[in-house]
Formats: sequence, C-alpha cells, structure tokens
Amino acid sequence: MTNQLKIYADGFRQSETRDFIPVLNPANQEVLAEVPCATPAEIDAAVAAAGTAFEAWRDVPTIERCRLMMLFQAKLKEHQEELAGIIARESGKTFVDAMGDVWRGIEVAEQACNMPSLMMGETSENVARGIDTYSIIQPVGVCVGITPFNFPAMIPLWMFPLAIASGNTFILKPSEQDPMTPTRMVELFYECGFPENVLQLIHGGRDQVEALITHRDTRAVSFVGSVGVGQHVYRLGTQHLKRVQCMTGAKNHLVIMPDANKSQAINALVGASLGAAGQRCMAVSAAVFVGAAGQWLPDLRDAMAAAKPGVFDDESAAYGPLISVAARERILGYIEAGKKEGATCLLDGSECSVPGMPDGNWVGPTLFSDVTSDMSIYREEIFGPVLAASQVDSLDAAIEFVNASPFGNGVSLFTSSGGSARKFQNQIQVGQVGINVPIPVPLPFFSFTGWKDSFIGDHHAYGKQAVRFYTETKTVTARWFDTDVTPGESNMTIALK
Ligand code: NAD
Repeated sequence: MTNQLKIYADGFRQSETRDFIPVLNPANQEVLAEVPCATPAEIDAAVAAAGTAFEAWRDVPTIERCRLMMLFQAKLKEHQEELAGIIARESGKTFVDAMGDVWRGIEVAEQACNMPSLMMGETSENVARGIDTYSIIQPVGVCVGITPFNFPAMIPLWMFPLAIASGNTFILKPSEQDPMTPTRMVELFYECGFPENVLQLIHGGRDQVEALITHRDTRAVSFVGSVGVGQHVYRLGTQHLKRVQCMTGAKNHLVIMPDANKSQAINALVGASLGAAGQRCMAVSAAVFVGAAGQWLPDLRDAMAAAKPGVFDDESAAYGPLISVAARERILGYIEAGKKEGATCLLDGSECSVPGMPDGNWVGPTLFSDVTSDMSIYREEIFGPVLAASQVDSLDAAIEFVNASPFGNGVSLFTSSGGSARKFQNQIQVGQVGINVPIPVPLPFFSFTGWKDSFIGDHHAYGKQAVRFYTETKTVTARWFDTDVTPGESNMTIALK
C-alpha cells in the first residue's frame, strides 16, 4: 500500500481528501508516497487549533519556549542522517548535499534558541520629567509558511523555529514535490514535548496556499518559491491585510577578474553552478569573465565536463537528477533556446544518461559562452545545471552588466585586488555579496537579504529581521506618581513638560 502522508490539523491525522499527488523518486520515478491536498474543513481546523494554542503559547516564558527548541535542535542533529536519506530519495540530492540541507536548517533552530536576547525591547528613562518609555516585543499570532522543493529541510527550518520560539503558532505548507522530509520533521518536533497545535502541517498546492493566506485568522505569511508565485502570494496576502515576506527566484552572477586565482575561480564556478543540479536559489547561473579571464573558458568547460550526475549514494556523483520530468523538459527547452539565440554551446548536457537509471530526470553539465543579456538563457531563471558565460572588458562593465539584471539575490567577485573588491561591494545592486566566496549565504545570526525581484516585503528571512517579521513592537509610556497634582497644572501642561 502506498505511504499516504499525514497532515497535522488539530492533531496528526489522515486527510479526508480524495485528491492526492504522488511523490516520485526523481532518479527512477518510483512512487514513494502520496501527498494529500488538505480539504477546506481541515484548513479551518488547523487555523482554529493554531489560534487556540496561541493564547497559551504566547504566555509561556520565552526561555521555556527556547528550552524546548534546544531539544528540537538536538533531535534534528540526532536524526540528521535519517532526514538526509529521505531528502536524497524524494528530491534526488546527493547524500552529502542532503546532509548540508539539514545542517543549514539546524543552524537556524540553534539561532532560535537565542530568542530571549532577540526579543529584548528598548528603554528610555525620562523622555519627559518622571516619564519612561519602553518597548515590548510580542508575537503576532498564527503564522503561515509556504516552502519550495529545493531545500525540504532547511527552508521550513528558516521559518517555524523562529516563529514558534518568539511565541507564535505556525502552519507549514511545504512543497508537494518533496513533502516527506517536512512531515518527518513535524513528527520529530512533537517528540520534543511541544504543546499540541503549536505547529500545524497542511499539504497541497495552490488551493491550500490561497485558503491559508486569505483566511481571516492568519496574520503573517512567509513564502519561498518562484518569482511569479511569490508575486501572486504577496498580492493576495496583502490584499487580505496579512504581513507578507516573499523570498523568490534568482539569477546569480559570478564575476571573474583576470587577477583572480584561476583554479579557485574555476572550482567555485563548477560547484556553484552544478551543485544540487543547479536547483539552488543561490546557484551561480551567470559567469561574467572580465578581460583576459575569458581565456579560462576551455578549462572551465573541461572541469564541468568531469562532473557527472548520479544517484544519491554514488559517492562519485557531483549532483543528482532534476526534481521532476517537467523540470527536465523545461531545462532542455532552455538549452535549445540558447543554441537558437546565438550563444556558443561549449558543453551540452541534453543527452545525459546514468547507467542503470534510464528513467531519471538527468541533465548533464551545460556551458554557454558569448551570452548576451537579451537571451532567454540569461534573462530567465533556468534552475538547472546550465551556466551562461558572458565576456566584458572591465570591472565597471561587469558591475553595470550585473546591476541591469532584475534579480538581486546573490553575486560573487573573484579577484586578488582589495580595491576591486571594495568598489564591487559598494556599487553592486545585489543583496548578498561574496568576495572569493561563490555562494554567499549568510549564517542565521545575519539575515538572508535578497534584493530586487528576488525579494518582496520589508523584513527578510531569519536573523534579527525574521524576529521583527514575526513580532509586534508595543511601546509603553509610563509615569508613577509620588506627588499630587500641583494647583494650576493641567493635563496638557503635564504632557508638554
Ligand atoms: P514554486 O513557486 O513552484 O512553489 C513554491 C510553493 O508555492 C510550493 O509550496 C507550492 O505548492 C506553492 N505554489 C505553487 N504554485 C502556486 C500558486 N499558483 N499559488 C500559490 N501557491 C503556489 O517554487 P519551487 O519550484 O518549489 O521552488 C523553486 C523556486 O524557489 C526557484 O524560483 C528558487 O529560486 C526559489 N527559491 C528562492 C529562495 C530564496 O531564498 N530567494 C530559496 C529557495 C528557492
């Protein structure tokens, strides 16, 4: 019998729905599970139960909430290999990459344990004679998280540990493409002794997302996914007066100066463009070679050609299959478009196969050079193992090229010049910058600060900004009397004193 995943809507339960989506192993199309599309009644039950749980959870001392979060952090570590095994099977990631997916999430759970300091307010004594003002940080209520397929452990963990440690209750709607990992994480969460209903789990797709973000009793929505869906979620959520943050798609550049360390730059380009089959929002999908660095393209092609995809437990595999048949088809379409639009295809991964795995969603490493900014392989997020290389004459031209892109998630510069690096970090219009670091994802005590079309909202994911997102600030102005009113003193004069 197929493994039918549970939802958590006022408790773990089997959904009453008749609408299921198969969860497929992308290496061979084996059906691993069926994910239910939760019914409207189940969504209502989840929101109502989260609302009731909030009334008690918000009053649990922050430090006590964090003690439970510490147990969850330890539980995730204990189960890191088990979770990585599930990720590898349902998403196709290599085991090493899947271990990293869990680890980067564990780091956020760790950061959530710091909530007592993160929720401290500010105090100002004597804002007027005898009057003090201080701020109190309080949770907003029932929060919703909508997550993509590409980090089934890390991205849910960007959200619910911080929201819950700060006193909210949370409803997670993970990707329907790899929902087994988040389902297991919710089970592990409740093994730590959290009160029931603090975290809910709703499975499904568009209908379930829309029901959650338009529901009268949800307050804040965190979304991570593609640009188009993010814009839709932002518009719909804000129309329904929700606080919304959307971390969306990207096209990340790596700029290579001729004074860069050549082997480091090539190694970084291979890892950052092909790792996780290019299905990372911080993957490098555009290389910009400055001046004589363009002569390194043949070496880059050879290094990329040596990287082979394979199944998750093949230790020699550089990356795994694409998430779905549709994703593979889309990427093959882009490779064809690149050829037609006039880019030079130095390495073509369209005919890729892996021995013994004829049905896997394989795409081999692909490299284009002479790419111009009007080509679709440059303009659009491909989300596959395809690197589009462009050549420019100077650092200024590279900065102008990158700044013209509508995306602003991540960018890197490889150079040995401090002056070039300083100029680059100052002038580049991108929210996360790496200097000789190819994928500059900040650790969770900073925030994940994508810009431009890669982010919609005010406060970013994790770090201090996420605490602001999941909380309200209340400002108290207080006066304690030790005298009676002086004759002739009015309320107005007291206030103005
Ligand atoms: P997606 O947009 O297809 O799906 C994301 C979530 O939205 C899923 O839970 C899905 O069920 C839901 N969804 C899909 N269509 C919807 C609709 N029409 N209305 C409402 N909800 C809908 O994204 P994906 O393919 O799962 O993930 C890949 C994308 O995520 C890429 O664009 C990648 O760049 C982006 N991403 C961004 C970041 C970031 O931090 N900026 C991080 C990871 C991934």
